[in-house]
Amino acid sequence: MKNFKEIFREAENKISGIAAAPGIVIDNVYLYNKEKLEINDSLITDIEEAKKNFGEALNNSKKELTKIFSLAKERMDPARAGIFEAQLMILDDPILIGNIDKRIETEKKLPEFIVNDEISKYQQMMIASHEAYLKERAHDIEDIKNRIIRNLQKKRWVSKIPTQAIVVSDSLTPADTILLSRSNVQGFVTDHGGLTSHAAIISRSLNIPAVVGTHNATSKIKDGDLVIVDGFHGYVLVRPTEEQVNFFREKHDKLVRLQKELEEFVEQPAVTMDGKKIHLCANVDVTGEIDIVITSGAKGIGLYRTEQILEEIGDFPDEDEQTKIYNTLATRIYPEFLTIRAFDIGGDKFKYIDYQEPNPFLGLRGMRLLLENPNLFKTQVRAVLRASTPKNIQFMLPMVTSIFEIRKAQEIIDECKKELRKEKIPFDNNMKVGIMVEVPSAAVMAKEFSDEIDFLSIGTNDLIQYLMAVDRGNDLVSDLYQEFSPAVIRTIEHIIKEAKRAKKDVSICGEMAADTLAIPLLIGLGLESLSMAPATISYAKKIIRYISYKDARELAKECISFRTEREVIHRIEKFFKEHNIRRTRNII
Ligand code: PEP
Ligand code: MG
Repeated sequence: MKNFKEIFREAENKISGIAAAPGIVIDNVYLYNKEKLEINDSLITDIEEAKKNFGEALNNSKKELTKIFSLAKERMDPARAGIFEAQLMILDDPILIGNIDKRIETEKKLPEFIVNDEISKYQQMMIASHEAYLKERAHDIEDIKNRIIRNLQKKRWVSKIPTQAIVVSDSLTPADTILLSRSNVQGFVTDHGGLTSHAAIISRSLNIPAVVGTHNATSKIKDGDLVIVDGFHGYVLVRPTEEQVNFFREKHDKLVRLQKELEEFVEQPAVTMDGKKIHLCANVDVTGEIDIVITSGAKGIGLYRTEQILEEIGDFPDEDEQTKIYNTLATRIYPEFLTIRAFDIGGDKFKYIDYQEPNPFLGLRGMRLLLENPNLFKTQVRAVLRASTPKNIQFMLPMVTSIFEIRKAQEIIDECKKELRKEKIPFDNNMKVGIMVEVPSAAVMAKEFSDEIDFLSIGTNDLIQYLMAVDRGNDLVSDLYQEFSPAVIRTIEHIIKEAKRAKKDVSICGEMAADTLAIPLLIGLGLESLSMAPATISYAKKIIRYISYKDARELAKECISFRTEREVIHRIEKFFKEHNIRRTRNII
């Protein structure tokens, strides 16, 4: 049977885009063509009448958006539904409305022309911004502008599709996405939009597979075409061959079967056949995932990537806002632990500084950036401390490369504690502080670093990148990104040994923890705690319950002695055959 790479390499009918929401769907297309609004710039004679029309159009737009907002609140987590609240606020903006009214009076043109011109000015400013987030928000404003103009022209807008279908469109506004989701939408494909577009965020929330940013889907796909949307890899196959349909039907059915099969593991403990208990935690990228975390059977959150908040809202939330976010999560997961990682900004993540670094992964990233911007760090530390009163929060520092950085961070944490004490604001004085071990210097010095902190978490995504000198996002060298390189395995073993020597808890939160092939090896190397995407927890449990700790120890011991990645992989594959288990990456 061919694998994904082969299927896609050979496919002449593929369109690639960004994998915005996971899942596989095969269905017919509904080409969602929005009628282009024609703007009339005629002069008017009755100014009062024009202003009255504008006021009515504003009111109708508000009514529509209020409906959409309440629908969104029903279907999505409140933070996401806030998109529509923000749009409603724009409709109430006195400066914008005042400007439009004034221009109607002085220029004496139809309100639709003034509305279009005035709001487009704001949009241009946002599009010119270097921030991907602001660019995306310009699309949201387009939605408001068109909504007002359409109401001025007294036109209706289709937001329903007649049958179950995959919606293909030039772009989708958040309102389109939520309204269309009421009909039987199976998937979304758009020409424009990125991972942070709200349509993408909403698709993820609603669990509708989506591929965005395809550039040319609407010109290559016709209404009614059969397509396959692969929201895992970001591909669309147009008018697929029988072989492609069969391949994806089988993947889809397997996925459904796998999810069903794994349901039985949710309630079961992660314990090996010979009684070794393993602590399985969840990685959380967006706050909305908490429901999935809770139903996944995770024992706590091993990594909360707080920089994702910035990606979502495009800005730094203030101390109160952050406290609320952290507090909600801590309360929901209580009594299990929530590990909040300080903003890991820089590298390929949220852009904070305007300066284009020649080597961003080796530049101002993680802890370095936070120490360069102590106010930013302090705001987060204070918020984390304020949220820590249930005593189930621990705080983790990203990309630490020296003891100096740990001490400096500790100083700031102590300073924040002092301030809060003075302000009589309660917090958990014993909140644990740990570090990510994700650069070679931290790995080599694992014992000394451990002496300074309460716990360690191995971030293999970066550790492998820095150890093997392979950019984790560069396709050209992806073959050299070797999880199972003996260098990686020996480094992980060293970190675990040294952390244990310092009597500190050590876990792993890189993607390697979710690679089923790696799980027996990691446990054999001595890890008792793994943190991974919630969707993978049941499968990890299944593997753990199929193996014995004794066998895993032996497997690890042997793997440590090998010289090449191939030997390691062969040995693990043999172990899998002996234990009758399969690797997840080959299933989906
Ligand atoms: C890692 O580097 O392994 C990690 C978990 O952090 P991130 O993927 O967020 O860089
Ligand atoms: Mg990392």
